[in-house]
Amino acid sequence: MDSRYHTGSENSLEEMEEDSETQSLGLDQDGKLPIFLSLKELTLLKRTPLRNKNIKAIVSSKWMVIPDVIKKYLGWRVCESSKETGNSWDIQWMDHSASLDEIRNLQPYQKINRFPETKHLGRKNLLMKYLKKLKVYLQDDYTFFPETWILPLEYDELKTHYHDKLAVEPNRKPIYIIKPENGSCGEGIFLTDDITTLQSANNCVVQEYLSEPLLIDGLKFDLRIYVLIKSISPLKIFIYREGMARFATQKYVKPSKENLNDIYMHLTNYAVNKTNPEFQFFQEEENQDGHKRSFTWILKYLKDSGQEPESVFKNICDVIIKTIAAFQPHLEHTYKTCQPREENSEICFELLGFDIILDKNYKPWVLEVNRFSSLNTDSKLDKTLKEHLLLDLFTLLNVNGMDKKPMESNKAYIPSKPAKLAREEIIKLREEINEWEEQNSGGFLKIYPPKKEWGMSNYSKVLAISSFMWDGLVGVNNRRVFSKSTLSKPTLTSTKIASTTVNFNKGAKLSTNSSKEGISKFPIGSKKAKSTISQ
Ligand code: ADP
Repeated sequence: MDSRYHTGSENSLEEMEEDSETQSLGLDQDGKLPIFLSLKELTLLKRTPLRNKNIKAIVSSKWMVIPDVIKKYLGWRVCESSKETGNSWDIQWMDHSASLDEIRNLQPYQKINRFPETKHLGRKNLLMKYLKKLKVYLQDDYTFFPETWILPLEYDELKTHYHDKLAVEPNRKPIYIIKPENGSCGEGIFLTDDITTLQSANNCVVQEYLSEPLLIDGLKFDLRIYVLIKSISPLKIFIYREGMARFATQKYVKPSKENLNDIYMHLTNYAVNKTNPEFQFFQEEENQDGHKRSFTWILKYLKDSGQEPESVFKNICDVIIKTIAAFQPHLEHTYKTCQPREENSEICFELLGFDIILDKNYKPWVLEVNRFSSLNTDSKLDKTLKEHLLLDLFTLLNVNGMDKKPMESNKAYIPSKPAKLAREEIIKLREEINEWEEQNSGGFLKIYPPKKEWGMSNYSKVLAISSFMWDGLVGVNNRRVFSKSTLSKPTLTSTKIASTTVNFNKGAKLSTNSSKEGISKFPIGSKKAKSTISQ
């Protein structure tokens, strides 16, 4: 048995303490942990969190599980604001975004759960804008998001798509799903087969509806996968080995004019489906038949039905890396602007919730990326998963409460001007960080830099093109050198880049006319209220 598995109860969370039986787990060929772990296996991992009452954590979050995990399992002091701590705090968790000034003023010993400008990832319109841009150059790589149009700017392109589809299948109108550009929890989403009603729609994205999702028990579902950007330069991405599957509560039939309004069939949001009296909570690990199940239950289901869950898992990792790669140059640039001398971008981290749907061919499609993922713990599945997720996250970050006195008094660490480290020092520091990650990742799996043996695509090319696009966007001369093999078709020209640059900040409120024929508006909650929590 691998020593990283827990066999007793000394470092366990509550549920583990109740159930301390020894569990034999399969290791991969290298004797390492398997790429995915069931909820049960996750709870049995051996953990050695360093308890330290000198660490000060500022938590301004509605999710009580954050201070609970910190206090109970790490013994850190939890404060509500820096009024209590001055600048001597070690880590900060906030539900809102961090301003550039906030990031600029951070000390090298501090960590915060936000990168500057990750809002670009979290908004549906901006996410799709970036992905679409890269698709222009990487047509074969960026096929993992549904065709999307941002209204009102791209209405003409949408119209062309509609007519092209109709020309091929005159008797089948294409179906589109319309979403407020900054919505969440399924709020304000509706399906339509009549695009003329979208002519005056503002501030929304329209997507081709993926009409052939993978079904389990006849139900549509999507996956919530937790992803950590641990540093932006060098880029380090970790996936949590366990996640969730959220099920629709009404049997799926292909969309037609008659069923476009059936929210319990077409939307998989927990916030939507829990309002259906048919909704069933997750019961037991072994026998998951509720409308929220674990991600690894889905993988096991795939295995039992003759599929290869490893390849589905790897494909999911692939689309996650490519999504983040589209933003990396922007995030790196902003980070470096705020912290010009910080060498490892270890100050900022961000936990993202990827919403991914599998189609009937097991292909993953990225629907959206949440920066404000729900950390509610209203079911046993949620509680067990999120407690372990947070504990593993805090451990992986290596918040060690190092002595801040010498740093504050040392000129070298005046926030805006920390000393530039020598190259050898940087290499040594990075090695130490890598070693820590190797030993203390818990349920996290590092997916970027990618493992060679996974045979995944050439991300350096993706990142190079992403950088090139970003430079073009901000008007920086192209600093990077491209070899002929790095850049293939189409040729990168400034004209091309300019033509894919669109300003999405125009427009007023989402306005669509639900009473018009062919349009179905889902009355989910108040359309005015803009909850940013995604469940
Ligand atoms: P929200 O942030 O409001 O949850 P999402 O983009 O996640 O918005 O969409 C909500 C739900 O709608 C998804 O969980 C999924 O079930 C369904 N959905 C979204 N986009 C598509 C699509 N292009 N094709 C099929 N179903 C979709």
